[in-house]
Amino acid sequence: MPIHEKSLIRPENLTTHDKLEIDGVDVSGHWSTFIESRVLTDYNEALQDEVQALPGGEAVHRCWQCGSCTNACTVNAINPDFNPRYWIYLIRLGMEQELLRDKDIVWQCVSCNKCTHVCPRDVNPEGVMKALAHWLELKGHTARSPSTEFDEEFASQVFETGKIEESRVIRGFFRRTGQPLMQDWLIAMTRRMLRHVPVKLLLAMGLQGLLRPSTRSWGAARGAIRDYVARRERENRRALGLDAAAHQGD
Ligand code: SF4
Ligand code: SF4
Repeated sequence: MPIHEKSLIRPENLTTHDKLEIDGVDVSGHWSTFIESRVLTDYNEALQDEVQALPGGEAVHRCWQCGSCTNACTVNAINPDFNPRYWIYLIRLGMEQELLRDKDIVWQCVSCNKCTHVCPRDVNPEGVMKALAHWLELKGHTARSPSTEFDEEFASQVFETGKIEESRVIRGFFRRTGQPLMQDWLIAMTRRMLRHVPVKLLLAMGLQGLLRPSTRSWGAARGAIRDYVARRERENRRALGLDAAAHQGD
């Protein structure tokens, strides 16, 4: 039978023999193209529950697969393999192995939230992408992504002072990810700022970077936030069955 939608079949599931004769008939080349049987035996029946247990993934069950999220997605416009609708479909079916094929690009979501604004079912696809990236890391399927490193640097600065100082966040992120401080895009952006941002504002930004002012009476808030984050992390690990000892200390 001709393969009408060959582009939808993964190349590794197609087999073609350069030289093949069956019952005296030469069926070499594309005539001998076979599609490998696709029997799925590796369902993870807990997959949807696990993603739902992580922040952002709570409403994944509401998706009705309209595709609006993928249609609006900033990253999909550049890389068609980045497909939130399809990954949500796989999460809901528990097709873990299929999902793992794309594990190295999930973290590339830029959190623009276009998907969230167009979703007719309040699924919060951006949150699902974050939860999925988090799930991949917690399960050990991927290393810590640059996105996680950025989030942790950002959060650590909030914990320390209750304020964000952008240049410090960028420097910390570069340090964590082993990147040089002098990068062409950063130099170009700094030059542009020097040309267009008022001197008074530049001085104020420089002073903030040096003095690192913190929010008044931040100590109590810092303690409460740290407790909350530690509790959420224990709950996340417990939801994924990763840490039986997570019950301790609750
Ligand atoms: S938030 Fe992420 S998934 Fe949603 S449109 Fe933006 S890049 Fe795509
Ligand atoms: S827009 Fe919402 S309902 Fe539609 S496929 Fe995406 S997540 Fe599902």
